[in-house]
Amino acid sequence: MHRADAQSAWNPSDIRETVRRYWGFDTLRPLQEEAILAGLQRRDSMVVLPTGGGKSLCYQVPPALAGLTDVVVSPLIALMKDQVDGLRQCGYPAAALHSGLSAGILRQTESEIAAGQYRLVFVAPERLLTPNILGLLRRVRVRAFAIDEAHCISHWGHDFRPEYRQLAALKNHFPGVSVHAYTATATPRVRQDIVDQLRLQNPQVLVGVFDRPNLVYRIIPRTDVYKQTIEVLRRHKGQAGIVYCLSRRDAEEMAYFLQQSRVRAAAYHAGMPSEDRRKTQDAFAEEKLDVISATVAFGMGIDRSDVRFVIHASMPKSIEHYQQETGRAGRDGLEAECVLFYSLADVIRWEGLIAKTAEDADAARRNREPEAPEQDRAGEIIASMTHLLRQMQQLCSRPECRHKMLSEYFGQAYAAASCGACDVCLEEMEGLAEATVAAQKILSCVAKVRERFGAGHVVDVLVGANTQRIRSYGHDQLSTYGLMKEVDKKTLANLIYQLLDQGLLDRESGEYPILKLNSASWEVMRGRRQVRLIQPKAAGVKRTQAEEAEWEGVDRGLFESLRELRREIAAEHGIPAYLVFGDATLRALARSRPSSIEAFLQVRGVGQRKATEMGDRFVGHIVAYCREHGVPMEATTPDDDLASEQPKHHRPSLHAAFGMFDEGRSIEEVARKLRRARSTTMQYLADYIQHRRPAEIDAWVDQPTYRQVAQVAGEVGTKILRPIFEKLGGTIPYDTIRLVARHLEIRE
Ligand code: ADP
Ligand code: ZN
Repeated sequence: MHRADAQSAWNPSDIRETVRRYWGFDTLRPLQEEAILAGLQRRDSMVVLPTGGGKSLCYQVPPALAGLTDVVVSPLIALMKDQVDGLRQCGYPAAALHSGLSAGILRQTESEIAAGQYRLVFVAPERLLTPNILGLLRRVRVRAFAIDEAHCISHWGHDFRPEYRQLAALKNHFPGVSVHAYTATATPRVRQDIVDQLRLQNPQVLVGVFDRPNLVYRIIPRTDVYKQTIEVLRRHKGQAGIVYCLSRRDAEEMAYFLQQSRVRAAAYHAGMPSEDRRKTQDAFAEEKLDVISATVAFGMGIDRSDVRFVIHASMPKSIEHYQQETGRAGRDGLEAECVLFYSLADVIRWEGLIAKTAEDADAARRNREPEAPEQDRAGEIIASMTHLLRQMQQLCSRPECRHKMLSEYFGQAYAAASCGACDVCLEEMEGLAEATVAAQKILSCVAKVRERFGAGHVVDVLVGANTQRIRSYGHDQLSTYGLMKEVDKKTLANLIYQLLDQGLLDRESGEYPILKLNSASWEVMRGRRQVRLIQPKAAGVKRTQAEEAEWEGVDRGLFESLRELRREIAAEHGIPAYLVFGDATLRALARSRPSSIEAFLQVRGVGQRKATEMGDRFVGHIVAYCREHGVPMEATTPDDDLASEQPKHHRPSLHAAFGMFDEGRSIEEVARKLRRARSTTMQYLADYIQHRRPAEIDAWVDQPTYRQVAQVAGEVGTKILRPIFEKLGGTIPYDTIRLVARHLEIRE
């Protein structure tokens, strides 16, 4: 009899103990406990959590606790491989059965499975129901099935996979076994489909909160996409990111441009040979590439958890796609940035593509192709695609909190008045001065060309271009010719698209639509209506409070050098770097700087196995670094909340400290008021200098000292503090040197 069948009451503390031992996490995320309990009680369940919500843990814990074997169905070999590698790093017995294995390995793995050596076995859906595997699973008396990426079973999802359909037979083959579906897809229709297809019985349905507070959303008018992309990349030097493009060609051109700008970037799209695609994906996982410029083809199977930015060079065709693609940022829970460069031109492009889908469907039907959809069906598809497109367009063109709009789209209310993490709430949108006048000029130009031309031509006339077309129509004689020659063409085109978006101008349908005036246009031209147009913010963007807080107390230099060490270890083990430790753990290490294995084990994300296997190397590295740079070790975390996973928008001490530094208060005063050690306060101040970039730091370092340090730093650099300290004969403490070094760096 199964041990799990014994009427055992599972205890939350058992769960916690297991989670701590293998993964080093002290707390569970929302709904993880409920999902784990459903697994333990063998009650069918459907768990809907956003990307990064921690679904894997939910099916990893129950078999480990029960001491039995469960099966995970997963759509991609790459995904399985990564998960198994990651689990083994934690000392968790897991194996995978897929076509990538040699016959010998396959046989060996199967006999190990039969012997009950594994807690989790990953199997591809098409393999699961073969007689061989069925026999094997019966022999080990499998207890439960977890279906990962369960939305792949649904036609209505964006990722339908025919092989998932076979899973409908699972309940026939294993009547007493429980089935647990996991997905990040939020639409009710897909959810219902999953329950029906898998024949879940009275399932426990757990739906998490979809908002991702650690993502900062920005939707910015697109003017010069290359220039704008580079601006974002500048904020993320050496960090991982994805740039999504609409077409394969766009993706390749973007990759080329990035390479020219000395970014470690490569393209990825479905038109590339699969070998090249795999190489690119591996290089990204191994941190040999920082940026992937891709079409929608890039996504599933990319589990790199430290993706710090996702850029949309153009608008995706639905909010589902947008959510999915931005969802790949910040899976480690740390702040990440999502920037979409928006122009109505994308909407027009998508409309064209949708129309083409319709034509293709019609043609197929006329040719009586077996796969051809019925006419109604084609009409239905087009209507629903257009509907999704409009929703996406609204998200882009309405100046409303992005977090709120996204949450509400997925059927969840959003309570906070300001999210503090989108361009709207951060008040980054910059209105164009004299927008009404600009609109009047544009609209009257449309009138002057007699509403017979598209945006491109109107732009040419307004900037006074000397084209054949303009000359042949005599448009160089118009009073609006050259009327806006001070505005660059791309910016001007974007303004026209904004007028269209706001309904102040109309267009005929088509790829190069002709601009038409409507009654609103005339109201604007007659001065009866004010217009608001936006432009990309000239001054760049602010750092959010959350991001400042996440770096609180972290020694950046140590963090970067721990990333190096992580890469080294990953290469030795032949696994992707993020499986060694995630960024959150590296930052925690660079913050608390443990000098012993015991202290190392206390850090969130460090489990027992990794402490035993890698502890010496990490601790040795930290100790060496701290000695060399004069950084104190065993820093106690100033706030308990640093160790928890609570939303980081309001870290009281750090913000209070910043506020007081703004007022020029002394280190002693700040330390006393906040009841923090002087060394912690010095660390706050170093952070303050890095983030707020004050012009001077006279309030904390007197000028002669500053000059002395600056002079020596000029000779030996600011990266390593020890040479500065020694050259000054130990007369100036490290703390002070660090402040000056940070200040010199921001002034570079
Ligand atoms: P999903 O499959 O839902 O997208 P994952 O299972 O990959 O998410 O988890 C995302 C990240 O969160 C992983 O790096 C994982 O280690 C981490 N994680 C999961 N559960 C916890 C927890 N309780 N505490 C801290 N980190 C967690
Ligand atoms: Zn907001």
